Amino acid sequence: MTLANGRHYLAIPGPSVMPDRVLQAMHRAAPNIYRGELPDMVATIVPDLKAIAKTKHHVAMYICNGHGVWEASLMNCFSRGDKVLVLGTGRFGNGWGDLAKALGIDTHLLDFGNAADVDLARVAEVLEADTAQEIKGVLIVQVDTSTSVKNDVLGLRAALDAAGHPALLLSDNIACLGCDEFHMDDWGVDVMITGSQKGLMTPPGMAFVYFNDKADAARETADLVTPYWDWRMRVDPDYFYKYFFGTAPTHHLYGLRTALDMIVHEEGLDAVWNRHKVLAESIWAALEVWGQAGPIRANITEREKRSHAVTLVNFGPGNGLKLRDWMEHSYGVTLGIPLEGVENPDDYLRIGHMGHVNGQMVLGVLAGLQAGMTALQIPHGPTGVEAAMRVVAEAT
Ligand SMILES: *Cc1c(COP(=O)(O)O)cnc(C)c1O
Repeated sequence: MTLANGRHYLAIPGPSVMPDRVLQAMHRAAPNIYRGELPDMVATIVPDLKAIAKTKHHVAMYICNGHGVWEASLMNCFSRGDKVLVLGTGRFGNGWGDLAKALGIDTHLLDFGNAADVDLARVAEVLEADTAQEIKGVLIVQVDTSTSVKNDVLGLRAALDAAGHPALLLSDNIACLGCDEFHMDDWGVDVMITGSQKGLMTPPGMAFVYFNDKADAARETADLVTPYWDWRMRVDPDYFYKYFFGTAPTHHLYGLRTALDMIVHEEGLDAVWNRHKVLAESIWAALEVWGQAGPIRANITEREKRSHAVTLVNFGPGNGLKLRDWMEHSYGVTLGIPLEGVENPDDYLRIGHMGHVNGQMVLGVLAGLQAGMTALQIPHGPTGVEAAMRVVAEAT
């Protein structure tokens, strides 16, 4: 028999669960894109997008997914042949680097594998050896969604400063903006990119490039930039039509307005970060106990290097695939697949816990995993869910 026939829960690391209020805000007739409610609303979205990134600088909005702003960010900063250092910690860091290479950028990959964060000592060596300062930019992913590692973006800023190196710091925060703590200005990040469909709880289809004046100075000479992807017109409020280089993503904007209300004005960003932290810690607590009597372990060993938005778990040989299947067909939860690059992918699954998630959703997933392990006879420490419940109880 199956117990899956209630409201299904998609717990993959993006697209994330959208609040009903966000969906309802989108359910309306098309607005006038030239004047009135919609342009007025966009003017209120910009400051809230900046508040979520803790920046006073600029944010350009695009109608695209995360891959689109991978490209947009690079095109506004670099020219063909520019040298860029790529810090690879999984599928996404390496993917951004591959795209840079395809654009004609001279990429140098430091690959830290699929279960570790960026080794800043190695980065410092490379920066210090670059006495001619040929490296024009460094690409880092704050959370690589494929491995669930969280990189030390502030530490990268410190390494650049210690080396006296002027390269731009570009950070991919598509997985984790609004989930893991981030301070664009205080951390000295020159360019940050994110998308609508993860921490921002809005359908996929909008993405954002944040940039400061130093990055905008690089735009002056960047020969990769094309008119559509140019960030300058997209930050100019005098040109509403050009803000989006054509028709605005009308309904996404209504959804986004509501999501930003919920994050910035109702719950508050600090509380949102804290909610993600406690829910992540409850997952880790369960994994630790399950792993005491079974082959279960979080992909990232050290807690401070784990994301609060997504967790990659190894459940032992073949068990990731079996559990995903059981969760989907017997329990009503779809979990994330491992991404290419991980060895023995059938051992793994990913739990998305970004955006509109609360205690019952996360504890429900953990209870399902524990029931699934019992049903599938996967050995595990029997009190994992109790450990997760304790984390929730203590935090509240
Ligand atoms: C999801 C994600 C992307 C890709 O975003 P798409 O919207 O799927 O193109 C890139 N980087 C990171 C870190 C992500 O989590």
